[in-house]
Amino acid sequence: MKVLVLNSGSSSQKMCLYEIGEDLPRDPPTCVWEARVEWESTHCAMVTRNARGHTRRAEVQVASRTEALKQLLATLWTGDDRVVSRVKDIAVVGHRVVHGGPEYEVPAFITEDVKAGIAAASAFAPLHNRAELEGMDTVEQVMGDVPQVAVFDTGFHRKMPLPAVVYPGPYKWFEQGIRRYGFHGINHQYCAERVAQLLNKSLKSLRVVSCHLGNGCSLAAIRDGHSIDTTMGFTPLEGLMMGTRSGSLDPGILTYLMRRDQATGEQIDDVLNKESGLAGVSGISGDMRLILAAIQEGNERAKLALDIYIHRLQAGIGSMVAALGGLDALVFTAGVGENSAEVREATCSNLEFLGVKLDEEMNAKPRLDADIDAVNSKVRVLVIRAQEDWAIARECWKLARNRQAAE
Ligand code: ADP
Repeated sequence: MKVLVLNSGSSSQKMCLYEIGEDLPRDPPTCVWEARVEWESTHCAMVTRNARGHTRRAEVQVASRTEALKQLLATLWTGDDRVVSRVKDIAVVGHRVVHGGPEYEVPAFITEDVKAGIAAASAFAPLHNRAELEGMDTVEQVMGDVPQVAVFDTGFHRKMPLPAVVYPGPYKWFEQGIRRYGFHGINHQYCAERVAQLLNKSLKSLRVVSCHLGNGCSLAAIRDGHSIDTTMGFTPLEGLMMGTRSGSLDPGILTYLMRRDQATGEQIDDVLNKESGLAGVSGISGDMRLILAAIQEGNERAKLALDIYIHRLQAGIGSMVAALGGLDALVFTAGVGENSAEVREATCSNLEFLGVKLDEEMNAKPRLDADIDAVNSKVRVLVIRAQEDWAIARECWKLARNRQAAE
């Protein structure tokens, strides 16, 4: 079964095609085709890679995002690098939907109702949800009635208990949808399942803290296979310090800035999302690699930025462990989590009281999807590669198979 996955961002679009047989493979397979478009106002850069590893890069003039998407989709079945002979060879198309609102928990076939639900939730994540709806409409125009599936990044956190969901503001906020949703759910869920598989244990028996440390950062506390707490909330701004996002702050700062500088909502949004975090404190960049390099050169602000990042990460892990009532496995995933031995070491350095102990050598050179804990560590520590697209493809495969079986 050929499954196409679309992952839309506000200024980029990623796609990949998976070929899945009769059974799901144990390990995530490499996709047979992948493509990426980055847009500027009137043109975009398209990069495609086919199954033979052949990469093609093109700058194209486009009138709209939809146009770019159509061109990109067409490269699947036309031209020298095509990977299918006709559109109908693709059995199902999956979309990552950033915000499912209060309603959506599990992956769903896209219908007019589901689209209306996603449009309603776009009040909470306007840039993302609109781009995703545009992707669904474009697929419909180009690929006709191919089944499409929405997989929600908020879905995994939908079973969080109310104390982890309701903000301690006026109760009517909650009734108006102002509540903690949590994000990165597709990857947190994938990581928890992968941990159980790698440790050969039932997910039900494990208390897992998953640390998704990419440009955006969040933690999830997972018990019985469900997220029971997470650090991101109403928006992906809450919680940990991130590349350019502040994470949690005293809300009094915002009202102070509004009074002192007559700052508008838009300006505050920009500061918190684009000019804060590692970039804001260091004045260098939100890229952890550049922060670590600057520390090597003796830059003190870069060192302070990293120290805050670790301080908040440790505090967040402490709070997740308290929600779980203990810890069996700690997972590091996404760009920083997978690649930075320094960050993993610094994070775990204060967690020995919980029974977390790293194996120095394995931490320095981890194999992906493997453990890095010392023999006498009471807690298993694993590095797991973020595989959102594969996780979405799997969900599509399952839904499509169930539908076929029911027909
Ligand atoms: P996103 O959240 O956008 O999906 P990624 O998961 O790809 O992002 O993470 C991107 C971040 O990973 C980069 O900003 C960079 O800071 C970090 N990163 C990538 N490689 C390394 C590395 N070798 N060491 C430290 N940080 C790294």
